[in-house]
Amino acid sequence: MSDRDGKIWMDGQLVEWRDAKVHVLTHTLHYGCGAFEGVRAYKTDQGTAIFRLRDHTERLFNSAKILRMEIPFTIEQAMQAQIDVVKANGFDSCYIRPLTWIGDKKLGVSPRGNTIHLMIAAWPWGAYLGEEGLTRGIRVKTSSYTRHHVNITMCNAKAVSNYTNSILANLEVTGDGYDEALLLDPQGFVSEGAGENIFVVREGVLYTPDLSSGALNGITRKTVFAICEDLGLTIKEKRITRDEVYIADEAFFTGTAAEVTPIRELDGVTLGPGYRGPITERIQNAFFDIVGGRNPKYAGWLSAV
Ligand code: PMP
Repeated sequence: MSDRDGKIWMDGQLVEWRDAKVHVLTHTLHYGCGAFEGVRAYKTDQGTAIFRLRDHTERLFNSAKILRMEIPFTIEQAMQAQIDVVKANGFDSCYIRPLTWIGDKKLGVSPRGNTIHLMIAAWPWGAYLGEEGLTRGIRVKTSSYTRHHVNITMCNAKAVSNYTNSILANLEVTGDGYDEALLLDPQGFVSEGAGENIFVVREGVLYTPDLSSGALNGITRKTVFAICEDLGLTIKEKRITRDEVYIADEAFFTGTAAEVTPIRELDGVTLGPGYRGPITERIQNAFFDIVGGRNPKYAGWLSAV
């Protein structure tokens, strides 16, 4: 990905894509302390707009706060930088990746006295789990790797280091031919996907693991809560067991990259009818209406580029 035309915002400036580099002695590269975001810009009838830009940017700053990293820019500057990057690259719709990291001033575990950096890149990225996955649903397997305990890594931080666990889980199950991994918390309850929150539907009610499961406080997850309220659907946060997923009528993953992706199978067990269920479809349609600028109630969640 490093060799292409375009611009990346790096520490306050738009630089050429292929010049946006760090040194090999960068602290984060060695010890894994950093934080990032995944944001999407969508094409709407009113032009390109970034979805929930403030919420994503605030989460980035909160992730940094949890990791004791002081980003040397304001939230407003970081929001403007994301708009500038999308504009500079001329994208109609794209994925946006802000990342904050510790610099190369010194090595050793302690980051004290080192510098903190921020970059924002953007590129076109279609359906994360495949276009077909959005309509037909995906096949998921429970990973043998446990999701983080809330006092081992900090689960409210979208921390770089949290993703080693996601990578191992994803490699494990995709190696077995599945599309994505489901991780259980240290007590054995359902937590989340490798890069997605999970929801199950049973007898018309939606359930999702509460955040003590170590799941990320997903912004798409919060959007689904708002959609459920609008659609008059009951949604509850609770501890969920893997066998509750097996007997669910429907299940789906949510995430900025994954959007709303139906799950048609877990561990070889067909969920519900084995394809996208009717409630999942309603939520998916409502989600794409909101991000596409077709629901005026949520116009405030769209930042024009
Ligand atoms: N959990 C994990 C581990 C993730 O990486 C993501 C993607 N950011 C999510 C959940 C979903 O979060 P969001 O809806 O904010 O993208």
